[in-house]
Amino acid sequence: MATIIDGKELSRKKRSEITAQSEEFARTYGRPPGLAVVLVGSDPASAIYVRNKGIACGQTGIRSFEYRLDEKTTQQELLALIDELNGRDEVDGILVQLPIPKHLNEKEVLLRIDPAKDVDGFHPFNMGMLLMGSPTLVPCTPRGIMEMLHEYGVEIRGKDAVVIGRSNIVGKPIALLLMMEHATITICHSRTRDLKDKIKRADIVVAAIGKEEMIRGDWIKDGAVVIDVGMNRSETGKLKGDVEFSEAEKHASMITPVPGGVGPMTITMLLDNTLIAAKARLS
Ligand code: NDP
Repeated sequence: MATIIDGKELSRKKRSEITAQSEEFARTYGRPPGLAVVLVGSDPASAIYVRNKGIACGQTGIRSFEYRLDEKTTQQELLALIDELNGRDEVDGILVQLPIPKHLNEKEVLLRIDPAKDVDGFHPFNMGMLLMGSPTLVPCTPRGIMEMLHEYGVEIRGKDAVVIGRSNIVGKPIALLLMMEHATITICHSRTRDLKDKIKRADIVVAAIGKEEMIRGDWIKDGAVVIDVGMNRSETGKLKGDVEFSEAEKHASMITPVPGGVGPMTITMLLDNTLIAAKARLS
């Protein structure tokens, strides 16, 4: 049976380190690190994420600034708020909760955030630095995955890693981070042929698809490490991953559960990115 990679426990440990560093920051600079979170509209899932981010900030000594804007907010109003936050000294990190309503231009919004405050790591400057192998602020979910692999002593160098999913927020950046640590990468997506065969050869599997248990457990090579990013609400209301956990854990050497794996680490890395941005701005 596989070792369970416990994202909740690792997250607790990291958050206590972040709290100590936030307190140290506040002693040194006379104010805590600050994170501004902007929510446009009333999407219930986004509202929960924003609330959880606020709570996590409070628990780790980071000051949270929350902006809840009306569904009908115009592009100009949103850009004006970002400009204001870019200029505010006590705001070290800015996050616009995605998705934003359809009438707004997401790309323009993300481009407007000062790259030095882009704690989601989605700005082309930060993405470009990652591509060039000199990461600055790195997207939170991939960072969380790397922390887990390091903490559990997973050997990455020379291994075959298969990433399923090519989104900007998970698939592409995790592939780059694994490549930087000398894994050989295969990136799969909806047009990939023979997905099962590719997964069967992988030493490390990262599933970021968004389809409940699409990766069958018997596709996993014996001894492989499985990271399941998927968060799918099943018919019974339970949260399920992209990997068939019950069968996969019989083959894998290590595996992340859903929930309790990648999810908790994502918010933790957001807190850490805020601290990194704060230190970089003031040091
Ligand atoms: P996207 O929808 O942006 O990307 C999904 C990717 O999966 C696409 O690249 C798509 O391919 C690929 N895909 C879809 N169907 C198949 C298929 N049949 N075979 C192979 N590949 C396929 O999703 P995200 O990257 O944003 O998120 C992925 C999952 O991770 C979701 O469940 C999301 O909720 C979860 N998530 C969890 C986080 C956490 O903190 N735990 C954080 C972020 C996301 P193509 O490009 O060809 O369309």
